[in-house]
Amino acid sequence: MSRVELVAPCHFGLEAVLKKEIMDLGYEIVQVEDGRVTFRGEEDAVSRANVFLRTAERILLKVGKIRAVTFEELFDQIKMLPWERYLPSDGKFWVTKASSVKSRLFSPSDIQSIVKKAVVERLKTVYHVEWFPETGAEYPIRISFMKDEATVCLDTTGLSLHKRGYRTMVSKAPIKETLAAALILLTPWKKDRILVDPFCGSGTFPIEAAMMAAHMAPGMNRSFTAESWTNILSRKCWYQAVDEANDLLDPDVKTDIQGYDIDPEMVKAARQNAAAAGVDHLIHFQSRPLNALSHPKKYGFLISNPPYGERLEEKENLPELYREIGERFASLDSWSMYLITGYEDAEKYIGRKADKNRKIYNGMLKTYYYQFLGPKPPKKKQQPGENRTEAEGQNR
Ligand code: SAH
Repeated sequence: MSRVELVAPCHFGLEAVLKKEIMDLGYEIVQVEDGRVTFRGEEDAVSRANVFLRTAERILLKVGKIRAVTFEELFDQIKMLPWERYLPSDGKFWVTKASSVKSRLFSPSDIQSIVKKAVVERLKTVYHVEWFPETGAEYPIRISFMKDEATVCLDTTGLSLHKRGYRTMVSKAPIKETLAAALILLTPWKKDRILVDPFCGSGTFPIEAAMMAAHMAPGMNRSFTAESWTNILSRKCWYQAVDEANDLLDPDVKTDIQGYDIDPEMVKAARQNAAAAGVDHLIHFQSRPLNALSHPKKYGFLISNPPYGERLEEKENLPELYREIGERFASLDSWSMYLITGYEDAEKYIGRKADKNRKIYNGMLKTYYYQFLGPKPPKKKQQPGENRTEAEGQNR
């Protein structure tokens, strides 16, 4: 297999973040749609995308695009796709997910069974057998209809990419790792700046930030479905992606990342998760209520997912809690604050209108990402002899 087209689903509203990540990995963007980015690369794009992308939910290998408004058309069109290029005669294949938006065909279970039948019919004519043992590698098929057109893919990932493997202990309302990473990437935070999450729960924001600071690829410690597709992807691609990730790793980077939570049990869980991720030495976790939050340094970032009253008894306390967030933030000299919350009165009680605001779906919940921007720190004065190439460049 040489050139491939890949589809990466992501959180609605965060396509631009994923697009940038994909371009930074060196791939050509084909299309950006709601909730997914399509791109092209050589076969090693499959392994590199799975190992390196922080904000994609999974990586799908595109088999084709069809148009169908009846089940007969669906069957015929699916049968015309070159399945034998992907599925070996002993492959185990099934339609793991069928979705449909604004399309005449919409019953997932019918779409699933017809697609499976059509693939079987296609393979019968190519492999000249009547029956497939399905004892080999797994090839999950995904089909998504939009306005009667369907993208047909094989899932290369398996367990969703937000499952990095480090989060064994969760809070009551954990934020997905992919979403947390995207929200951090939307800020100008960099590894040499302070980051504090005062409601850290299971530690997702601090851990994702520490992984970025250490250039730790999110998928370097897990496995993927397509690793067993030796008929189409060489094993070498996977070894090379992990080698590349190991070469980039900088575990001794200097960071200033803190996670606080009022609940000591949560802090314990966050520490365990950070240790599992291999970044516990880069984060300071402590049990501390919001009202004790202060920081002596300037130009830091609060990036957080405060409670927003998913449960009734919490709702009553929200005005007070958000007033406190506003007060604590005001006391932090020249900081920036980024909050994802579903609480509609957040700005009212914080006492300040956000400079930017972005609607984001956290699962089915409509939430907002409020961005309160602080000033940029002054450029560091150059020490004699420091960073010479840049200084020389400026002199020219
Ligand atoms: N982003 C986190 C989830 C945060 S849920 C994750 O991915 O796991 C909100 C957290 O705020 C809870 O863990 C709760 O214990 C904590 N919390 C609630 N009130 C608080 C307060 N007054 N001070 C500090 N933490 C608080």
